[in-house]
Amino acid sequence: MVDFEVTVIGGGVVGLSIARELTLSGKKVLVVEKNSSFGQENSSRNSGVIHAGIYYPHYSFKNKFCAAGNVSLYSYAKERGIEFSNCGKIIVATSKKEEKKLNQIILNAERNGLILEKLSQRHLKELEPELVGEIGLLSRTTGIIDIHDLMLNFVTDIENNGGVVSFNSEFSHSVNKTNHISFFLKKDKNKEVKTKSIINSTGLYSHLIAKKIDGINVDDIPVIRYVKGNYLSLSGKSPFKKLIYPLPEKNGLGIHSTINLDGVTIFGPDTVEVEEIDFNVTKNIKKKFLNSISKYWPEVKNRNLNYNYCGIRPKHTNNDFSFVTKKLDNDSFIINLFGIESPGLTSSIQIGKYVLNIFKTKNSI
Ligand SMILES: Cc1cc2nc3c(=O)[nH]c(=O)nc-3n(C[C@H](O)[C@H](O)[C@H](O)COP(=O)(O)OP(=O)(O)OC[C@H]3O[C@@H](n4cnc5c(N)ncnc54)[C@H](O)[C@@H]3O)c2cc1C
Repeated sequence: MVDFEVTVIGGGVVGLSIARELTLSGKKVLVVEKNSSFGQENSSRNSGVIHAGIYYPHYSFKNKFCAAGNVSLYSYAKERGIEFSNCGKIIVATSKKEEKKLNQIILNAERNGLILEKLSQRHLKELEPELVGEIGLLSRTTGIIDIHDLMLNFVTDIENNGGVVSFNSEFSHSVNKTNHISFFLKKDKNKEVKTKSIINSTGLYSHLIAKKIDGINVDDIPVIRYVKGNYLSLSGKSPFKKLIYPLPEKNGLGIHSTINLDGVTIFGPDTVEVEEIDFNVTKNIKKKFLNSISKYWPEVKNRNLNYNYCGIRPKHTNNDFSFVTKKLDNDSFIINLFGIESPGLTSSIQIGKYVLNIFKTKNSI
């Protein structure tokens, strides 16, 4: 007899979504989360954007889950009364030279089944009078969501379907037994919990936790790079109604402008390579932000920017989400999620369905 059929390590938006799908399908699920509540790491340290799926390579997991995830997220939010705004997004080119890159973005979006509207300079001014740009693209299906309420709804669904979410429960290590997996928490290394399967959804820690799960081949664990993304907030009235993005850059989507659901304008994230997990905002970055933002909104130089918060992208070398699954001799499953950076929030419901499908079909193993 096992205590749980599946144990999900990590109570961020993705771990919770997976646990939700599994409990909805009738499985007895435990979520262990090391913090005192859910979603206190990257899941509450992002732009809160429901992405459309514009930039991702067609055959990537990111594209597959983001495009469908956009639809599922709006639909779930409507069903549950979770606050969201389908405000739309403008990608702006600030010089004629950038037009070629915009055309490439249109082509990629079309390949992914999305229609972006091209905006002339006059059009841009009509939509966003304070925005400075030569040409732009409008994505109507991009929006923002209250991610805290989203996760709260996931927790409610898990618990209403017989699942257990256990906080202050840091996973230590697991040991494979004849018919199940036993694992231990850091707070009580003598207390054995029996589970049939384990899902490692620990975000920034996934590659480290994978080494503590018995049976995972170290060669299957990818190298993960950390890229911090800092955010600054704007004092006073917002200049824009829509989300405003410059052209994407190497490690991120560029320092963009988002209006959160409280009406506060947030700029970011930037990209800073870091070695350690440290959720303090990087110092001395205001000049960089001013230079970047002023290309599409010169007025920022006369306004106040305040240090706000940051998240850290766990970057996989293949730039995509990755699922490393293993079936043990005792018929247990271990599924590791790696590189769940943006658009992980948008993709969360679809990732949950994908993992459930691994259990159902068992053909990905
Ligand atoms: C700067 C930035 C901006 C982003 N913007 C967007 C956006 O606008 N739209 C979008 O779709 N996506 C965005 N994302 C991506 C999105 O935030 C993430 O993909 C998503 O939050 C990942 O969720 P997760 O559950 O995998 O990870 P996390 O939220 O990091 O959750 C992992 C959990 O595992 C727990 N954990 C770790 N180790 C242990 C252990 N040993 N035992 C128990 N628990 C453990 C942690 O405490 C944590 O709660 C952004 C990401 C960043 C960094």
